[in-house]
Amino acid sequence: MRRKLAAGNWKMFGTTASLGEIAAIAGACPTPGVDILVCLPATLISRAQAVAGCVALGGQDCHAHGEGAHTGDISAPMLIDAGASHVILGHSERRSDYRESDETVAAKALSARAAGLTAVICVGETLEQRQSGDALAVVGGQLAGSIPDGASGANTVVAYEPVWAIGTGLTPSVEEIGEMHGFIRRALRERFGTEGDAIRVLYGGSVKPANAADIFAVPDVDGALVGGASLKAADFLPIVRALEGAAGQ
Ligand code: PEP
Repeated sequence: MRRKLAAGNWKMFGTTASLGEIAAIAGACPTPGVDILVCLPATLISRAQAVAGCVALGGQDCHAHGEGAHTGDISAPMLIDAGASHVILGHSERRSDYRESDETVAAKALSARAAGLTAVICVGETLEQRQSGDALAVVGGQLAGSIPDGASGANTVVAYEPVWAIGTGLTPSVEEIGEMHGFIRRALRERFGTEGDAIRVLYGGSVKPANAADIFAVPDVDGALVGGASLKAADFLPIVRALEGAAGQ
């Protein structure tokens, strides 16, 4: 039985003043049946620990190497040192802004695993790819290329994030989400066996309090990766509550 996961992605938002939002999210603790994760700008992780309660903290990227002459980068051991337990890898914004390939994402995931971080590996098709009927093939290729061998429920989470749904207010239909999550579940099971069955698969892309319950009712959806609506506890907590409702079904 996979535990539900409500994960936030703060992207490049948040300064010291935002730590109060983490404290407010932690006000929901304990949340039996649901894990909460917030992936913060690296500058906030260490200070957020003091107020995070049951809320796990994550980074949003790491380098493929543990250390080295890579100005401006952050490594998996550094995230661990700051208090992170997770790291988002292969987010579509990094795939497009920095041309990150599946190979790069897989190398980063191995580094994250070696350091003891759980990698939240993002996959998802563009609107053009969906409209041309290639969504399943694209996501299948990303899964195969971005997730390294040896993935398990402990070291890997998958986030299905259609690129065209991120930050746009658009979402796929619940049928489309169900089709993709069923496809991802079968691919993980085929490749990783029982461990593949333990890997949580999140939906991400314009999840809001208003649509969360409908999305969480879709079979094979184990939670959400939430961008904009994770920045304020007032928006994120209703999503956590909707997931608790789904966990209780
Ligand atoms: C994201 O950043 O991963 C995301 C899904 O963003 P939003 O919820 O704002 O669409």
